This record gives sequence, structure tokens and C-alpha cells, in this order.
Amino acid sequence: MGNFYSEIANAMAQHSDLDCLRLADSSRWSYTDLEVRVGELAGCLVSHGVAPGDRVVVQVDKSAENLALYLATLAAGAVYVPLNTAYTAAELDYFVENAEPTLFVGSQERTDVASLTLDANGAGTLSDASRGCEAPAVVTREDSDLAAILYTSGTTGRSKGAMLSHANLSSNAHALCEAWGWKHEDVLLHALPIFHVHGLFIASHCALLNGSAMIWLPKFDAAEVHQHLEEASVMMGVPTFYTRLLADPAFPASSLDHIRVFICGSAPLTEQVFSEWEERTGHRILERYGMSETIINTTNPLDGARVPATVGFPLPGLDLRIADDDGVPVTTGDVGTIEVRGPNVFGGYWRMPDKTAEEIREDGFFITGDLGTVDEEGRVSIVGRSKDLVISGGYNVYPKEVESLIDDIEGVKESAVIGVPHADFGEGVVAVIVPDDSPVELDTVEAALAGQLARFKQPKVVVNVDELPRNPMGKVQKNLLREQYTDLFQDS
Ligand code: AMP
Repeated sequence: MGNFYSEIANAMAQHSDLDCLRLADSSRWSYTDLEVRVGELAGCLVSHGVAPGDRVVVQVDKSAENLALYLATLAAGAVYVPLNTAYTAAELDYFVENAEPTLFVGSQERTDVASLTLDANGAGTLSDASRGCEAPAVVTREDSDLAAILYTSGTTGRSKGAMLSHANLSSNAHALCEAWGWKHEDVLLHALPIFHVHGLFIASHCALLNGSAMIWLPKFDAAEVHQHLEEASVMMGVPTFYTRLLADPAFPASSLDHIRVFICGSAPLTEQVFSEWEERTGHRILERYGMSETIINTTNPLDGARVPATVGFPLPGLDLRIADDDGVPVTTGDVGTIEVRGPNVFGGYWRMPDKTAEEIREDGFFITGDLGTVDEEGRVSIVGRSKDLVISGGYNVYPKEVESLIDDIEGVKESAVIGVPHADFGEGVVAVIVPDDSPVELDTVEAALAGQLARFKQPKVVVNVDELPRNPMGKVQKNLLREQYTDLFQDS
């Protein structure tokens, strides 16, 4: 194994003249183009003092150059640290201080660390400095050496840097190519950001290792994606991609029979969206489950039943258990915390040994913080995050269970169930609803849930909103909702 970039370089060399990136402006990068830019950028990094093990922190808009920079960092044996472009200057200060990079690449220079710039068009001081730089030899790395640090999108507290090794990246990439039947002829529609595990690793690695072409879009725009689907055979997206495409009544404008598979993850896909997608396109979306710390854990099968509201089976080589707070497996079918152990699981949190010790058990299982179940067949379902769990009157309420039923009520577009302080119950259940048009009243929700859900799980209050707050990966930010409605029961 060693340096994961060597595997990609081998694949690139075999597909030299073929398209690697098809850009929105209709220009193309062949695999040779990418390989040459990776070499020049690696040379530039080395000339700026980047040594093996050093961190390169990158906060830039997605571009072909940005992908080349990621690969160049691996080639130079350094550690790639991508940051969400939405982070503010104050947040950025924290990441730079925490990661202590040798080089920062951003849209603007910094004064506290050596820095170069790169803009959305791939221009900037980095590009200028790198043109014509001689490609250094790919630096030898051990399997366990760090390849990347991904700061978790963290909805509470300080972001933690998940340390991923070359072996983590390589083993997961190969497992996914196998699980999803990746073919060289595949054309991936890539509209995901590449500061996150989904776009950077999961999507790109499958294409790069197979010499497949990627339609490389700077961001998700429903109309643009709709148009490019004609040329694609695979799309990977977050649930918001699918809901936004469905929002156009004219979607799909033409048959999508040529698509091999639609893959979805990073946030829960509702049964409603799954079914509507199938009705409109004839495709059953393949949902999978992963995270920054582990890349991908489970996937619905490519061949075989794709069951909505489940995330499928653990990847080969991954041990997955549903455990209680002490790590003891619960009875099959019961809800517990999903714990995983395997070649994809990260080594720990960067410079946070205490957090690492809290979340990785002595037997190597990582406590994901996701609550889930496994059925008799071995299929995994996620019912929520442990920190999103609502405890009302001492009873556990799993938001997903309530949300699924509310989402089925006529006139409800989507919902988020949260718990906020309540004098009697500790936490009171609140349903935040996005209606189709007119507000959905508490009476309607009560009538629909009566007989289906225990009384303690039913919302005591319904709030109607225009939209739910989401982070860039489409995850509903329940922490923001909890903050906003924290006094809801105090006022009454
Ligand atoms: P991140 O590290 O930003 O990728 O976030 C990982 C988290 O996203 C997981 O711990 C889950 O809570 C959530 N997640 C990822 N995929 C799914 C999925 N298919 N269904 C439900 N939640 C998901």
C-alpha cells in the first residue's frame, strides 16, 4: 500500500490521454494533464518548505487545480487539511492554530503563516509559483502515516480533526469500487464540495482509481446538474441534491435509463424522496452511511434490495455493533449506539488524546455517536444522533421515528423533531415543520399520530417554518433549532 497517491498515479498513467475532468466551461483535463499539474504543485510545495508529515491547510473554492493540490500534497508526503469555505475568519484562526500548517492556501494570504492563494478559476500565487516546477519523486509513506486531517463539521463544541492514514483512504476506496461495481467507462457527475469526505474521498477516489471521467461542477445547481445528467452514468449526492431536482416538475426532461446508479449519503434520505425519485426516474437510490472519521461504513447493495430508510450492510472487513453505553452489544433489533472497527477507521483526533480516548474503545471500536439498529438480516438503520436524542419524562424519544410519521401527513413537506427544556418533563418534544403551503396545526399532528406513537413521543408544540437550517452537506442543524426554541415552554 504505502503512499496512496502512488496507486492513483499508476491508474493515471494507464489512462493518460483519457478525460479525467470535464469542466463546466466545456474545457477538459486529461489524466496526463492532472498528473503533470500534480507534479508541478508537489514541486512547488517542496520548494516552499513542505516536508513529509507537514500540514497543508487549504480553504479554497472547488476547481480542477484544487483537486491537483490535494493529490500533490499526498505525493509530497504531507498532510492535506481541507476547510469548509463557509468558515469565518475567526473559525479559520482556530484551524490554523490547531493544525499548525507549514503552508496555508486560501483565497487570501495570511500573515501568521506562509501562504499562497488560489481562486475559483485555479489562478493565484500558487499557480504562478508552481508553473514549471520539477516534479519530485513520490515520497514513500507507511500505511499508518497521516494523509489527511478532516475537521468534523461539529454541530457543537470545537471542531475535532479526524486523522486519516494512507491505509484508511486506500482500503475504503477499494472497498467502494468493489461494492458499487465501479467501471472504467463510468462518468461521475461530481457536484459535491471537495472540502468534505464525500466529495474529496468517496466520490473522487472511485473515479481516479478507475481512470473514469468526472463532470466537475463547482457547486450544486439543480438546472445545471439536470442538464449534465445526460452525459453521466453515476451521480453521488446528499439528499438535498435529490429533493432540489425533484422540486422541478419537469424533472427528468428525458429518460435516465443510461444512469447506472444514483448514490446518496451524508444525511438521512426520507422514504418520501426515495419513492418519488423511483416514480419519476425508475431508479431506486442507493443509500450509504459514512463520516469524516471512517469514510464509508455501510452501503445498500448494488445488486439486491435497496431498502429505503436503511443504510444497508457493513462493508467487507468492517466490524459493526450496536452497543449500550458500556460497549456491550444490545439485543438484535434494539436501538443502541453504532460502533465500528476496521481498516477505514481513523487513528484519532489531532492533538486531542482525551477526545480520542473517549471515542475509541480499547478494543478498537469507534463510538460513532449515531444511534441505530441492525435487523436479523444484518441491515443497519440510523435512528438519530445520540446528542439529538430527546429524553422526555425519562423516556427516550428517537426523533427519526417521529419525523417519519409527521412527514407522511398531508401538507407536510419535511420536519425536524427536537427536545427543548420543559419544567415537568425535562425536555418537551417539539416538531418543527415545513408545510407545503398553509401551516400544519398541532391538532392535525396529534390526530395523525394517535394510535401510532406513544403519547410521550408526540410533539407538545408544532412550529411552522419556511425552511430548516442546514449545513453545507445538507444536515439539519438541530442545535440551531434547539437554541432558537429553547424558551418555548418557559413562556407558556
Ligand atoms: P460528516 O462527518 O460531516 O460526514 O458527518 C457524519 C454524520 O452524517 C454521521 O455520523 C451521520 O450522523 C450522518 N450521516 C451520514 N450518512 C448518513 C445517512 N445515510 N443517513 C443518516 N445519517 C447519515
